[in-house]
Amino acid sequence: MPSQAQSDQEDHRRLTLIIGVIVVAASVVCALSLMAMLARPPATVTEVATVVALIAMIAVATMVKARVRIRSTTHSITWNETAIVVGVAVAPAPWVVLCTAIGVAVAFAVLRLPAIKMAFSIGKNTLVAAGAGLTLVSLDWVWPPDTFTDFADLIAPIALAYLAATLLDEIIAIPVIAIASGSSIRQQFRTNWDLRGVGVALRFLVTICTLLLLQADLRLLVAVPPLVLSLHLAYSTRIRSRTEQQAWQRLARTTDALNVVDLDEVLTTAVTQAAELFSADEVEMELREGGRTVRGGTGGITFDGPTGTPTDVDGTIIPAPLEGHDRTVDVGVLRLRFRGPVQLSEREQYTLRTFASALCTAVRNAQAYAELARVADEHAYAASHDALTGLANRRQLLDEGTEQLSTRHADGVTALVLIDLNHFKEVNDTLGHAAGDQVLVQVADRLRGAAPASDLVARLGGDEFAVLLRGLPAPAVAAHRAETLLAALHEPFELDGMRISVEASGGISGAPSNGGMAELLRRADVAMYQAKRAGQRIATYAPTRDTADLGRLTLGGDLPRAVADHEFVVNFQPIVDLGTGEVTSAEALARWHHPVHGLIDPLRFLEAVERSGLLPAFAEAILDQALIAAVSWHDAGFDVPVAVNVSPRSLLDARFPGSVLARLRAHDLPPDRLVLELTETLTLSQLDVVDRVLSRLRDEGVRLALDDFGTGYSSLSLLSRIPVHELKIDRSFVTTMESSAEAAAVIRSTLDLGRSLDLDVVAEGVESEPQRRALWELGCVAGQGHLFARPMPSGTLLAAMQRGSGGRPGTLAAPLHDAGAVIRLSQNRRQTGRSRPDRLPHLPA
Ligand code: C2E
Ligand code: CA
Ligand code: CA
Repeated sequence: MPSQAQSDQEDHRRLTLIIGVIVVAASVVCALSLMAMLARPPATVTEVATVVALIAMIAVATMVKARVRIRSTTHSITWNETAIVVGVAVAPAPWVVLCTAIGVAVAFAVLRLPAIKMAFSIGKNTLVAAGAGLTLVSLDWVWPPDTFTDFADLIAPIALAYLAATLLDEIIAIPVIAIASGSSIRQQFRTNWDLRGVGVALRFLVTICTLLLLQADLRLLVAVPPLVLSLHLAYSTRIRSRTEQQAWQRLARTTDALNVVDLDEVLTTAVTQAAELFSADEVEMELREGGRTVRGGTGGITFDGPTGTPTDVDGTIIPAPLEGHDRTVDVGVLRLRFRGPVQLSEREQYTLRTFASALCTAVRNAQAYAELARVADEHAYAASHDALTGLANRRQLLDEGTEQLSTRHADGVTALVLIDLNHFKEVNDTLGHAAGDQVLVQVADRLRGAAPASDLVARLGGDEFAVLLRGLPAPAVAAHRAETLLAALHEPFELDGMRISVEASGGISGAPSNGGMAELLRRADVAMYQAKRAGQRIATYAPTRDTADLGRLTLGGDLPRAVADHEFVVNFQPIVDLGTGEVTSAEALARWHHPVHGLIDPLRFLEAVERSGLLPAFAEAILDQALIAAVSWHDAGFDVPVAVNVSPRSLLDARFPGSVLARLRAHDLPPDRLVLELTETLTLSQLDVVDRVLSRLRDEGVRLALDDFGTGYSSLSLLSRIPVHELKIDRSFVTTMESSAEAAAVIRSTLDLGRSLDLDVVAEGVESEPQRRALWELGCVAGQGHLFARPMPSGTLLAAMQRGSGGRPGTLAAPLHDAGAVIRLSQNRRQTGRSRPDRLPHLPA
């Protein structure tokens, strides 16, 4: 599309060309006329007077005109044709041609109009005169006509000459006006055609009357101008009131059209309508609110941008403030721009004020409406998004997920990854909520960055995030995607110069065949929890491991009753000397004896307990039962310490040590009969509060064990901070030690570490004799697992110990070696007897 400036240039070129052609043609005509006139110059006084009168008549006719402004060009309706036709009727055509040229020039000089307009007007009128003259000459016209009575002889030739003049005038003028005003030629022919027609008829009548008069006496030529003048006044008043009426109607229509709520529509309407209403070359609207400026013309908006951008239309600027009738509100300013010099008529000024005031109201309405719509949008956004991170919220996830699952022909596989930050609460508790929020925002950013655009990343609340995977090529891809998501969180987060590592666990589930989004979410949740408890980063939902249909989340509601009604019971799993099979201690493992669902294991309710705020009550109940059991074994002659698992969250509770020690005193049990098992995945273990809690317990003699050792990232660094007595090798290493060199290496170095730091090491999950033997040969003294016993009630364990293995009370397995082959080392650190392997295996230096 050509730009405005380009098309303006093009118009200008065409205008100059047309005017040039007219001027050249007129010059030729004038030259020929001059030659003819020189051949037969005016001889008599009457003839000279006629020439002077002709020049005067044409000058007057040119000056008296009705003005109509189109854009910055004012168009005039003149009496020229009348004067010219009268002229050619009474005088030789060449004279009239020259008189026309001179008369028009005089008129333009008097009016001080620009030279280009003068050139055009002289050219046009000369040609009109030549045309009219030639018409009469070709009709053998003679003045004065022979017979005064034959009216038709007068009318017909004059009518034809008049027609020729009018047509020539229109044909020459209209293309020029059309180009100058930017409208089409057809449009120009049509505008006011009725009025123009009446005008032509009227002027023809005047011409005839004038000629009738002149036929009587040529001297009456002097009376023609006043007559023309009075007729002109009547006519121009009529045309003006007509224009005015149209303008008012247009204003009414325009203010009506402004009555819309959309601001952009208001602006477009305002700009195009104002351009038309005031025939402006450009209309500009500057809005105070938002510093926005729009510009345009009758064709529409050409600019919409910040206020202050320069425009390429210069000339006259007519501003109108956009203010209410009472002038109190001010929304901006409307500017009309014209390329040329323009002054608005009084009527136009009034129209402009009315228009500006209507526009002000329309803009305010639209702005208010936009504000309303924005607030509504914001509400809708807030309802579906998380305010902190800007991610979708749970509701949005459920909505989009439900839609995705219900789309029958959805492309690919749908899956959900649930991501939960481990120990996030500690960040909040120690560094403050602002820091916690920052971490969450950064986590959100990383997840967003790691997920393709087709996935929906949501924050479900707290430190729980979810990513809805859509359009996967195969279900297996979900695990890969989940890896990518979690890997994005691996790098430590920068928090005001601190670097904080946040571990996360992920649970994956593919879309279930039924149950919809709620079931998908539950399954991912189950998987995530499995990952957490198994110390893995990611787990995929497996129906076989989903022990019940009821989600553990639904159990949350039962918790207060469970604590109050002592529904939590404790089973005990013995820890035995791998060499002798003797029970050296027992681990307390919680169970929920649910009145409806039966025995529920800890994986399914622990997290709910940790989150519920009932953790202290729960922990106390478990500890109580564990201590009662230890006392009962002691009383039966088995001095077996009890190991109790401690939630990381308890370690953040400064009252925790006090309550533990109080329970010990209440049961009258020495503190060293209690082992507290801590999971090593404690992030921020450097926290002061954890340090204080643990040193207090340790100082009082309570023994500490690091559970699931080897699974976390920071095992070693953690060990240097937390002085524990015991390490528990995670079950996953024991299970795979025979097949995986890596697992074997972890076990070996853990044992090595235990030896150098003088710590006891217990292997978890010993399920077979070969495992037991291999561990023992590596130098591991203690083990726990199904090989020896499953978790059981304390009474059952007591009975088993009393029964003993092979008639040896206190043992649960046959010794590894013949009694003679085992060299029993006296235990200097423990009261309970423990054997040591007779020879130490080779360990890497
Ligand atoms: P854990 O501390 O690693 O406990 C050992 C888990 O391994 C127990 O699962 C036990 O039943 C299981 N286990 C023991 N020997 C074997 C074996 O040879 N093979 C296999 N496959 N598994 C064996 P359980 O009882 O389901 O407990 C799961 C986890 O729940 C525990 O892991 C512990 O972290 C947590 N937990 C249990 N009771 C409590 C409690 O009272 N308080 C807290 N805070 N956590 C608890
Ligand atoms: Ca444990
Ligand atoms: Ca463990």
